[in-house]
Amino acid sequence: MPEGHTIHRLAARHRDLFAGHPVHAVSPQGRFAAGAALIDGRVMTDATAHGKHLLHRYGDELAVHVHLGLYGKVTDGTGEPPPIVGEVRLRMTGNGHWLDLRGPAACEVLDPPGVAALLGRLGPDPLRDDSDPMLAYVRIARSRKPIAAVLLDQSIVAGGGLIFVLELLFRAGMSPRTVAGGIGPETWCALWTDLRGLMREAVVRGRIDTVHTEHTPAAMRRPPRVDRHGGEVYVYRRTGQPCLVCGTPIARDVLAGRNLYWCPVCQPVSRPRGASTGGRPRRSSRTGSGRS
Ligand SMILES: [Zn+2]
Repeated sequence: MPEGHTIHRLAARHRDLFAGHPVHAVSPQGRFAAGAALIDGRVMTDATAHGKHLLHRYGDELAVHVHLGLYGKVTDGTGEPPPIVGEVRLRMTGNGHWLDLRGPAACEVLDPPGVAALLGRLGPDPLRDDSDPMLAYVRIARSRKPIAAVLLDQSIVAGGGLIFVLELLFRAGMSPRTVAGGIGPETWCALWTDLRGLMREAVVRGRIDTVHTEHTPAAMRRPPRVDRHGGEVYVYRRTGQPCLVCGTPIARDVLAGRNLYWCPVCQPVSRPRGASTGGRPRRSSRTGSGRS
């Protein structure tokens, strides 16, 4: 599933292509025929991204909400649109450009209360300047769930998917199974800042790279990663491969139906802050922290 940076790139792209211009909208496949008729001929005023949700805005009255889900795809181009191929849910033309949307999990027209309800279900998005990370912290602080599960919950933090979350936790030296409620506010602020940096870089590059400079293929004199996801990462889909920091094989486990990847040495399980351990504070088994 595309992560938030992909949706922010799409929003910027669609704004460039169509904002300020009337669009012609149809649903060749038919499943969005009524919705397309509602926006046909209207001026798209903006395109915005909120986590993994894309909104095409038509003034203050209507918005088309798109969630790509697992199979959704958007293509666009300049000039005459190509012949319809496959199940095109929405085709838009205008301002000399065309756009086709196929296979989205959601494509619907929302009125202002509908938009408010959608945004109300989403946690703060690290890619949006108007996001308040402490809104997420309120939920994190009272959760007994593993931090990986909490950060994947779009109602707590919007936009980060499995790659960002697992890489973020590696960079923080934190086990994905750390109890969320044991994380202090300073630690959360540091996680948020790092996540925002990773996501912003991904918006610019169009792929997710999470390794520090000293762990790039060039710095380590190793071949670049081969994976359809593309970027240079520490743990995501690297099961059994040596950790780029300590050489330990990367571990994999399943949590609530999602794959977890982590380094058992760099990301030791720690007890939650303030938890009753009945003894001395547990010391990490990690011997060195040479990471920046
Ligand atoms: Zn390691």
